[in-house]
Formats: sequence, C-alpha cells, structure tokens
Amino acid sequence: MKILNELYAGKAKTVYETDDSERLVLRFRDDTSAFDGAKIEQLARKGMVNNRTNAFIMEKLEAAGIVTHFDRLLSANEAVVKRLDMIPIECVVRNISSGSICKRLGVEEGLTLLPPTFEFFLKDDARHDPMVNEFHIRSFGWASEDEVAAMKTQTFAVNDCLKALFAEAGLLLVDYKLEFGRYQGDVVLGDEFTADGCRLWDAKTREKLDKDRFRQGLGGVVEAYEEVAHRLGVDLD
Ligand code: 5GP
Repeated sequence: MKILNELYAGKAKTVYETDDSERLVLRFRDDTSAFDGAKIEQLARKGMVNNRTNAFIMEKLEAAGIVTHFDRLLSANEAVVKRLDMIPIECVVRNISSGSICKRLGVEEGLTLLPPTFEFFLKDDARHDPMVNEFHIRSFGWASEDEVAAMKTQTFAVNDCLKALFAEAGLLLVDYKLEFGRYQGDVVLGDEFTADGCRLWDAKTREKLDKDRFRQGLGGVVEAYEEVAHRLGVDLD
C-alpha cells in the first residue's frame, strides 16, 4: 500500500490518503494535547503505544460484533482503516462521574452512574466541543434520526464489551468518547479507542491511568498508558 498525500492533521493523529480509494492510513504521533489544543507536549513512545492499544481494542470490538473502521496495523505507529465519511459528533458514555460532568452539574467525582449516562458533543475545538442533543444533531443535519440511534446503540454496546475487558485487567472504565462515520450506508465506529480518549482507573486504588495524568500534570503519562497495555495483554514489541 502506498501512502499518498496528507488529508488531515488532528491533535494526536495524521490521516493520509492511499493508493486504495477505500482506505486511509492513520499515523499516531507522540503529540499529546489537552484543553482543546491549549496544552501540547511530545511524549516519546505514545504514538506506538496508542496505535497498538487501539488495534487490540478495535479487534476485541469487532469480535463482539461492533463494526469498526480498523483494517490492520501497518507499522509501529500506523494503521490502515476504512475511509469513512465522519459525523462531526462525539458520543460519550460515563459509568462513573469525572471530568466535565462534575463541573457542569456540580457533582462530586467518583459516583457510580446507574444507568451509565450518555452525552453528545459537537466536534468543534474553537467552541470547546459544546454539548448538543439529538434534536440539534438532526435539525442542523449533522446526522439523521437513524444514524443518531445507531451511534447510541453502538456506543452502549462498546460499554458492555469494554467494561468487562478492562475489569478483567483490574481497571475501571470511567468514561470514554467515540466518533462514528458512514461507510457503504452503515454507521461505523471510527477514530480511536485509547487512554487519550477515555478515563481508566485502577480498580483497587482508583489511581488514574489515562490522559487525566497529562491534563492534571500528574506525570508518568506514557508509563500509565503502557501499564494499561501491559494489563490488557497488548504486544508492544
Ligand atoms: P469530559 O467531557 O469529561 O471532558 O470527557 C469525557 C470523556 O471523553 C473523557 O474520557 C475524555 O477523555 C473524552 N473526550 C472528550 N472530548 C474529547 C476530545 O476532544 N478528545 C479526546 N481525545 N477525548 C475526549
């Protein structure tokens, strides 16, 4: 497969077109950003750890019947994915209160949410990814009613699969963000699932093992991502 021109550079990944019009290459970079890009640092090995962890998780999701864009690993920090028409919406499920919901609703961190709660956000860094509802998504044409329903169903299906997977690794899946796109008429999971876009706590100590270590200046960011990968059984060599 030949990598052609750069299509899009995000905050942690660059997307390339290839000589296959149906496939893109994602390059996971070492860049780490928070606060909508206001804080950016390079963390050695992060691109590789995230690429391999993402591949591992996408394959688990596929095995559980969730259709994803993931095709195959191409190199230590690159993967081949299906070319999706991305929906500009972030889907968030929360099992435990943390992050923006605590600020927004004035609730304490660490509350178990039963049932898990769900939120949509518009992907728009300049506006700090505002929260939107299903009516906004349909009224502004970001996605249809059926696509909204599919995103919700699949985001909760991911929760069932990954809560159990992480629990086996002694980790609590606190919350996560997913993005979807259209592929041959279906709504398919795109983007990535890594510790950059979810919260993971040690089940016993509740130590944070995700990007909150970077956001909160706790240090040991890549070491925490490697710990997660190691516990899941991801091959990092
Ligand atoms: P919160 O709304 O609490 O900031 O985030 C909820 C969850 O979604 C967290 O796991 C967070 O990492 C993830 N998330 C929300 N927005 C973004 C984003 O723009 N980029 C990434 N990588 N993750 C996000």
